[in-house]
Amino acid sequence: MSLNAESTAFRSALEVIRAVEPRVADAIGAELADQRESLKLIASENYASPATLLAMGNWLSDKYAEGTVGRRFYAGCQNVDTVEALAAEHARQLFGAAHAYVQPHSGIDANLVAFWAVLADRVESPALKKAQVRQVNELTEADWFALRRELSNQRMLGMSLDAGGHLTHGFRPNISGKMFDQRSYGTDPATGLIDYDKVAEAAREFKPLILVAGYSAYPRKVNFRIMREIADEVGATFMVDMAHFAGLVAGKVFTGDFDPVPHAHIVTTTTHKSLRGPRGGMVLCGPELADQVDRGCPMVLGGPLPHVMAAKAVALAEARRPDFADYASRIVANAQALAEGLLRRGAKLVTGGTDNHLVLIDVSGYGLTGRQAEQALLDSGIVTNRNAVPQDPNGAWYTSGIRIGTPALTTRGLGGAEMDATAELIHTVLTQTAPGSNPDGTPSKAKYVLDPAVADKVSRQANELLTGFPLYPAVDLG
Ligand SMILES: *Cc1c(COP(=O)(O)O)cnc(C)c1O
Repeated sequence: MSLNAESTAFRSALEVIRAVEPRVADAIGAELADQRESLKLIASENYASPATLLAMGNWLSDKYAEGTVGRRFYAGCQNVDTVEALAAEHARQLFGAAHAYVQPHSGIDANLVAFWAVLADRVESPALKKAQVRQVNELTEADWFALRRELSNQRMLGMSLDAGGHLTHGFRPNISGKMFDQRSYGTDPATGLIDYDKVAEAAREFKPLILVAGYSAYPRKVNFRIMREIADEVGATFMVDMAHFAGLVAGKVFTGDFDPVPHAHIVTTTTHKSLRGPRGGMVLCGPELADQVDRGCPMVLGGPLPHVMAAKAVALAEARRPDFADYASRIVANAQALAEGLLRRGAKLVTGGTDNHLVLIDVSGYGLTGRQAEQALLDSGIVTNRNAVPQDPNGAWYTSGIRIGTPALTTRGLGGAEMDATAELIHTVLTQTAPGSNPDGTPSKAKYVLDPAVADKVSRQANELLTGFPLYPAVDLG
């Protein structure tokens, strides 16, 4: 039998790796088998194309390329320039952005680049001007000390964690919370939706330097036009972290007021979630912040990863094709079908549904914590993650929610009928799981009781659901 190009490429790569460290080759092969078998509902994961994956496994990785295209601190960067320029060009075209910086190694790194670009623009530059010097090395010790204090005394207003915000938006365990004095806006307890009047109120009172929008667990659209008006009113820089929903922006599901790019001063994203590229990050902005953003490396980033930028260029080229818009709209249609299937069976959903790629189930309705539900589902072949719900009584560790998302299963080709079947499987597991108790008889937030026969049966059904939708269908590892 003659092998197709994809099978040949991956088989050959594994053969070469196996000759050095067979256990790594085995783990790579096993990962494909595991991914093929699991009903992956993790909202932040996806399956990148073989072309994207292969673009990462080569000698572009060997090159140091600090600096930016055409302005490197190392010689011999012409090919890195080619791939970085291509990735940036595709990103600008895809999102309609004036400037794209494609070096960030992840979403967290992209946010750090954005924060420091804004701090440099709004705090450092005016201080340099005032001291009549061109760069920080020329400041006196006293002026430098004063500037450092000022840089670390700025304010950020972002979405609260339990409303779906992200740790990098000024929360204490993350560096952003140590850098900024942070306040949060939440959601309306009655509707679960962002209350823009409350956001405006908080902004007027707190006067942040940066207003951040974006989330990892909010199942609704955000009106970025209104958020920009709030930022303008209080003189804040408006930043949107679209890490989760960049694919929906790229695929023109989120347009007009819901497209962050025309409204924000600066937009950050990951490239591996709904955008379906390699693991990585990216920053988009207008010409005003472009120079500061381009200082990301070595300001906060280590040397660029040229092989990953090559993969970003490939994935962004894919996202510019017409079929990506179809993919993006199917992601949302699938999330809505899943939400409807769950609601029809009696599940309680945060905000009562979804208009993006994710659904947040409040599992307190099943008498469970998020942790119990997550483990019971995992036992049954359904991969999700627990997540806090607004005003979560169980905190961020045990939680009361399960977050599920459709980007990955949509890539495999599953549609509305399969989403309804998935809702049935989830509902079956959650109704059949009972909370467990501690040895002393008190209720446990982690232990649970699920008949293994039920878990087995659901696992088999989940697997059957996937058989018609092979993952990496052209890849046969033999
Ligand atoms: C996932 C995510 C990040 C972090 O991305 P990494 O690539 O894991 O660093 C940042 N912000 C938001 C909103 C996210 O959802």
